Amino acid sequence: MASTMLRFTGVDQAYPSKRAADARADDFLEIARPYLIAKAEEQASRCSQCGVPFCQVHCPLHNNIPDWLRLTAEGRLEEAYEASAATSSMPEICGRICPQDRLCEGNCVIEPGFGAVTIGSVEKFITDTAWDNGWVKPLRVGRSRGQSVGIVGAGPAGLTAAEMLRGKGYDVAVYDRHDRAGGLLTYGIPGFKLEKDIVARRVDRLAAAGIVFHLGFEVGRDASLDDLRAKHDAVLIATGVYAARELTAPGADAAEIVPALDFLFASNRRGFGETVAGLDASGRHVVVVGGGDTAMDCVRTAVRQGAKSVKCLYRRDRDNMPGSPREVAHAEEEGVEFVWLSAPAAFKSSGGVGDTVTGVHIQRMRLGPADASGRRTPEADPHAVEHIPADLVIKALGYDAEDLPKNFAAPDLAVTRWGTLRLDHMAMMTNLPGVFAAGDIVRGASLVVWAIRDGRDVASAMHGWLTTKVAAVRVAA
Ligand code: FAD
Ligand code: SF4
Ligand code: SF4
Repeated sequence: MASTMLRFTGVDQAYPSKRAADARADDFLEIARPYLIAKAEEQASRCSQCGVPFCQVHCPLHNNIPDWLRLTAEGRLEEAYEASAATSSMPEICGRICPQDRLCEGNCVIEPGFGAVTIGSVEKFITDTAWDNGWVKPLRVGRSRGQSVGIVGAGPAGLTAAEMLRGKGYDVAVYDRHDRAGGLLTYGIPGFKLEKDIVARRVDRLAAAGIVFHLGFEVGRDASLDDLRAKHDAVLIATGVYAARELTAPGADAAEIVPALDFLFASNRRGFGETVAGLDASGRHVVVVGGGDTAMDCVRTAVRQGAKSVKCLYRRDRDNMPGSPREVAHAEEEGVEFVWLSAPAAFKSSGGVGDTVTGVHIQRMRLGPADASGRRTPEADPHAVEHIPADLVIKALGYDAEDLPKNFAAPDLAVTRWGTLRLDHMAMMTNLPGVFAAGDIVRGASLVVWAIRDGRDVASAMHGWLTTKVAAVRVAA
């Protein structure tokens, strides 16, 4: 083992420094400053090069983390980049937005006592450096196979599959209903977590390799699934999940009670210089309902838009919330108030039906026994109801699959009881021959790193199926 490693007893854990909370509340730029090269090398040298690296086991991509940490510590950054890129189509994006505390870093063996190796920050540093130095090469396109693949959805699952299939020599067309590729990387996740040029340069690299993007193209409106099946040798559905869960409390149909993604999409569109009417928190008392990472993105976006106050209502307590503790800490630093153990009991509005929300009656909750998942179930505390003013309420309760059999005019397409696509998981194929699926539309709302993993796996499943199809045609001839 190289003598540069195992320094965790002498070198303290150090994440890249963050910009001051008051400075970052004025813009949508990322909050972490980049590592300086010496700092990245020093932090990488804390790794103990475990024989069984639990960091790698718990990374959905099984990235070769110990290898690229050692290469970084030795100053061999280009080789570190190559090792990192061998298993991931978007290492610099995962380094920014993976919940590392639940994945690689949360399972680093030196975490108890010394603090985990800062794996995500080093991963981001390596590939940002690679882009800066021109080490990220154009995609190498394999010899043409004369077969084409249609991919519906340009999120991380669709883009990863597109990259791998193009690399194997397929003609690849990607269809997306938005006017920019990237899926939630572009329009859902705010710039302060992931700046948009980081996503755009990945998309540009794919387009330069001959992947054809049909943007503003909605399957179901501009073509049916059968149209795409007739046009391509295989089709991949990677459409994500977009049906917002609704609030049920009385008055929830008042104006200015809006779904989280509408609010975040509008904000990201403004970031691209577009004019979007409404969906703006500036000068308003904002209440966000929900405790996941989408809720955290909404509260922090509202702060940056200049809200008068921002409150987050969550029915459990801090220890039982699904959102990342790191994101909660960022939100608190930026001035967000968390109202733990609370749920909306009713919404008050300015008058009759369709009028604008003016406040929320809050039902205080307490935690009962744990449910089957081990989380304590919230129950109403009948004596505790209070009122808070609100002129914008954002619903961040999660997302389900849209009705794809109906939307795609494909009534035979099999779905689960949650509306996600039913797959033969070995083949990654739906019940329709040659129609594959990957990402959130299979898993339900999940993570970018899992979408990338699925994109990688489905590309190899599609390649296997397409190769067999060609062989079968040859035998029949
Ligand atoms: P998506 O990224 O949703 O992409 C699907 C694409 O399909 C979209 O571009 C959509 O326009 C297109 N599409 C849908 N229907 C059609 C149609 N009929 N025709 C044509 N195109 C269509 N994960 C993390 O790991 N870290 C985070 O910090 C994080 N933050 C998040 C913040 C928010 C606000 C949200 C909502 C999610 C966040 N996630 C995060 C989750 C992550 O973004 C998703 O798990 C991931 O993007 C799923 O990838 P996907 O490719 O399956 O789908
Ligand atoms: Fe960690 Fe995510 Fe990178 Fe894997 S992809 S090493 S989980 S930051
Ligand atoms: Fe290094 Fe931690 Fe991974 Fe062990 S678990 S190889 S110490 S990063």
